[in-house]
Amino acid sequence: MPNLTIAVASGKGGTGKTTVATNLTVALAREGLDVAYVDCDVEEPNGHIFLQPTVDREEEARVAIPSIDPDICTGCGECSDFCQYNALAVLGPSVMLFPELCHSCGGCRLVCPEKAITEIPKTVGRVRTGTSHEAGFIDGTLEVGATQIHPVTSLVRRTVGSHQCAVIDAPPGTTCPTIEAVRDVDYVVLVTEPTPFGLNDLELAVGMVRELGLRFGVVINRSDIGDDRVETFCIRENIPVLLSIPYDLECARAYAGGHLAIDRSETFRHMMVDLYHRVEEGAHD
Ligand code: SF4
Ligand code: SF4
Repeated sequence: MPNLTIAVASGKGGTGKTTVATNLTVALAREGLDVAYVDCDVEEPNGHIFLQPTVDREEEARVAIPSIDPDICTGCGECSDFCQYNALAVLGPSVMLFPELCHSCGGCRLVCPEKAITEIPKTVGRVRTGTSHEAGFIDGTLEVGATQIHPVTSLVRRTVGSHQCAVIDAPPGTTCPTIEAVRDVDYVVLVTEPTPFGLNDLELAVGMVRELGLRFGVVINRSDIGDDRVETFCIRENIPVLLSIPYDLECARAYAGGHLAIDRSETFRHMMVDLYHRVEEGAHD
């Protein structure tokens, strides 16, 4: 387990979450910290675009799905009656499985009176481990057509290892995949924009982290393009604004070209190091 696990999250996509997570990781690695970037956005991982990692290990995330022995099955239908996800259909004497609907609960195997059901592994995603810019790198990718996000996110979290610090790039939103990515972290950095949509999604994200009992603060990206409602909300709710990042054309160009902003702007690099110190303080106060 890392000494400090920081999740970078946002109530919606496109706020600059991955920019903060990737640049923060590399800025810290260049300060000599043993840090890893951990991309938990398994439906759309894109940290690798900026970090260009060297991958040295890949592991499959698997779930168990039922396998029905047609020689034993009597077609009684108890398994399909039990399945709440309509993943099994009895067609005459045989049973058909729709693996994409199966949630791997294992219940059908238990209710089958003939013991005709066993479980077989199904790959639902892959987790890669490597290095980038002297930092550790871990990301997960959901297989095409797979819907079981949780086992992939969970394997990514378990793969982090013993780095001093882990920076988790959480999936945007406030649903189960985000909760799985941020659970148990030491601190959550919520990245938002000073717009009405940004405020709305921030309010949802704040509700989520408060419900989970996590320490958190806010980063306002493109802080000079909108209004002050996000800031007013943070003051009213007693939420620390860790950093305000004004719009910067060089940083925007770096992002568009798949480069790290800290390589184009020394100011941005300093901002990332300052952000870390504020998070460290907030995580331990
Ligand atoms: S419960 Fe068992 S025996 Fe009955 S239909 Fe399902 S697999 Fe076949
Ligand atoms: S394991 Fe659970 S979800 Fe999958 S087919 Fe069996 S009962 Fe349905």
